[in-house]
Amino acid sequence: MGKIKVGIYWAASCGGCDVSLLEIDEQILDVAAKADFVFWPCATDTKYSDLRAYQDGSIDVVLFNGAIRTQENHDLARLLRDKAKHLVAYGSCAQMGGVIGLANLSSRKEIFTTLFGEKSLWPQEESNQDGYPLHLPAFLERVLPLVDVVDVDYVIPGCPPPKEMVSKFFEALLEGKLPEIGAVFAAEKNLCDECPRERKEERITRIVRPHEIEPKQDSCLLDQGIICMGPATRGGCGAVCPLANMPCTGCAGPTANITDQGATMLNAIASLIGTGLEGEEELEAEEAILAEIDDVIGTFYRFSLAASIFKGAQREQRG
Ligand code: SF4
Ligand code: SF4
Ligand code: SF4
Repeated sequence: MGKIKVGIYWAASCGGCDVSLLEIDEQILDVAAKADFVFWPCATDTKYSDLRAYQDGSIDVVLFNGAIRTQENHDLARLLRDKAKHLVAYGSCAQMGGVIGLANLSSRKEIFTTLFGEKSLWPQEESNQDGYPLHLPAFLERVLPLVDVVDVDYVIPGCPPPKEMVSKFFEALLEGKLPEIGAVFAAEKNLCDECPRERKEERITRIVRPHEIEPKQDSCLLDQGIICMGPATRGGCGAVCPLANMPCTGCAGPTANITDQGATMLNAIASLIGTGLEGEEELEAEEAILAEIDDVIGTFYRFSLAASIFKGAQREQRG
């Protein structure tokens, strides 16, 4: 049997996902022994024409990281879907738009105006430089998660995916034991299930940012008023952030039963807020506590804005 053919592509990405592949320590020797990297623009000089020459379905697995920001990202997603037997959304940007998706708070026009100023200075898709034609990929109106452009077979979540999840994926791949289509290489239950901090679901009487208090070591951060996305986030990372005294920011995405990670968490927070007052006084006190939340979108939708219900209309661009 020949080696397993693997492709890796970064679309609108910070590059961290490509680097995270190297975190699997000595397992990388197994990967190198059993797999050939046939397309990896970050590490090899493969041309798009080489990729187009592959037969459809001839690359066993393609790990796609980054969101869809440009027409080039879009075209490559569709081409790689054709060439891959299995396409994997690798990292939160591919899965949900990730932090790149926060750009959806601004329109294309607003982004270009901020970056380049007046319209005559904006980059053009077609231009001429010293007599030579210059083509730039179109900058799409909105950031899209990979799943909004093509069908995805597996998800390895995280920003970037932690070693445990990446390792689990390669183990399954190398042993020829990939799970059913649709599997997410993370825990089924939420992060609180694996977090060693004790959660009592106490009423929240104030909201604080991590640097404003010294949190008690064994107690749930949310119980102490620090917004921790654990209840609305898949486990699988070992609760590394709460273990380091930092709240989970939700990078592993929602559990299967949650459609909108941010809305679910907002709902959870709203039901936990309470001061013990009554009637109007209680409502006013609750509003004052909620008003303490700084940067609502960045807190609740840091990784999932482009996949949230607010961006549902963008899904029409698919196909
Ligand atoms: S998921 Fe995180 S590490 Fe990966 S490309 Fe996006 S921002 Fe970078
Ligand atoms: S600290 Fe966060 S992850 Fe841990 S139990 Fe509390 S809410 Fe859940
Ligand atoms: S604790 Fe949350 S933010 Fe931190 S790595 Fe795990 S899922 Fe991501």
